[in-house]
Amino acid sequence: MKRFFIVTFALCLLAAALGLPACAPETRDRYTMRLVFEPLSRTLSGEMGVRLTNRTDRPWDTVCFQLWANAFREGAKYLPVGETFAPAVYYKGASFGGIAVTDVEGGEARVAGADENILEIVPPSPVPSGGEARFSMRFTVLLPEIEHRLGIGQRTVTLSGFYPVLCHWDGGFCEHVYTPCGDPFTSAAADYDVTFTLPERYLVAHTGTGTRTAADGLARYQIVAEGVRDFAMVCSERFSVCTGEAAGVPVAYYYLDDPDPARTLAAAEESLAFFEETFSDYAYPAYTVAETGFPYGGMEFPMLSWIADDLPGRETPLVVAHETAHQWWYAMVGSDPYHEAWQDEGLAEFSAALFFDAHPAYRQTYADVVSASERAYRAYYSVSAQLSAGETAMSRPLTSYTGDYAYRSLAYDKGVILFDRLRQTMGDGRFFAALKAYARAYAGKTASPAELIACFAARAPQAEGIFAAFLGGACVI
Ligand SMILES: [Zn+2]
Repeated sequence: MKRFFIVTFALCLLAAALGLPACAPETRDRYTMRLVFEPLSRTLSGEMGVRLTNRTDRPWDTVCFQLWANAFREGAKYLPVGETFAPAVYYKGASFGGIAVTDVEGGEARVAGADENILEIVPPSPVPSGGEARFSMRFTVLLPEIEHRLGIGQRTVTLSGFYPVLCHWDGGFCEHVYTPCGDPFTSAAADYDVTFTLPERYLVAHTGTGTRTAADGLARYQIVAEGVRDFAMVCSERFSVCTGEAAGVPVAYYYLDDPDPARTLAAAEESLAFFEETFSDYAYPAYTVAETGFPYGGMEFPMLSWIADDLPGRETPLVVAHETAHQWWYAMVGSDPYHEAWQDEGLAEFSAALFFDAHPAYRQTYADVVSASERAYRAYYSVSAQLSAGETAMSRPLTSYTGDYAYRSLAYDKGVILFDRLRQTMGDGRFFAALKAYARAYAGKTASPAELIACFAARAPQAEGIFAAFLGGACVI
């Protein structure tokens, strides 16, 4: 990314010298938050200011924010956890949370949506296309006792989806409900300025870079994160930290009882360096991996990956490589994982397979990952073909999956097979040129499936048919 800025700057100078219009600096939305975590009351309280620009072609009468934290409240209709995982993640039995938003300034606010999942703010006059809106508010999040994306776990406090975040725009503000499988989160890249205070005994792994100071028993983090789609943290009284670097980027690993932290850190460093070489420059000034109480193997956030604290050691490198690949396929190049989960999950898992081929020390190969995906998908297909008409289309909203098994089989396993078939058909030269073009063209943006497909179809016309057969469910594997 540094190289990108230098080239951009040089082009601006050239434009100025030639008397061409100067380059306008890109303004991103900005969230400013002052947060305090109090373990005794299980609360995260915050003051937040948001500055938004209406980049759409329609005026905004109402501005909508997702309230992800309300999925954890008592009586929620769209639960964050399915029946399979509920007994394990609610380690003390049922526990509830939720978010209360108060003191909203900048418009009339109300909680709405299908499941109290949306904060609507009506500004005094519509925000015109190209216009700016500013809001401020206070919020208090009650943290459930749960090992999940938001809550107080047995050894870690996970803080993601805790603040009102602007809804994804797709011709209008999209209102997503929480789903027990997949990641229902889609948001635009923005800048964050965060101050976070909590008892000094905690260490915090977070999106962004910053400083930690401690006084009077409290630790204070001052954090800046630019061009990120989300802001997340994980806190623990038991974290140890080891650090390294990859391609000039500092890499940190916050761990609990990982028996081989150096190996996990190395997987993070090596995969970051490999993806930078294979796809495009890493856009952020740091990268952190944290061991976390989490039921689904791992979870990606910008500049931050969580890996589950109960991973079998042999699976750790795959999870680390997969989550690190999400820095390209989710964090830098955004997509819509609510409707098209395969687009980032399939690419992330496929990228991990590529990484293993270049790093034989992990004793897995590209062929191993692809054939494991084929076996898993065929097993799923034989079951689902008996159970129903055959649920094989990859292009589907998260709410339409029958459960975690279908989600895993279609978004991950079939996704790996799709990109492997494209690679075989196109040959490495054209295939990797397409992936690089996709990474470059959509960095900082949100790409639709059609935009991804166009990168491949521009280099191999038959790619369009391959995508159509996989996404629509017609192909036989
Ligand atoms: Zn993933």
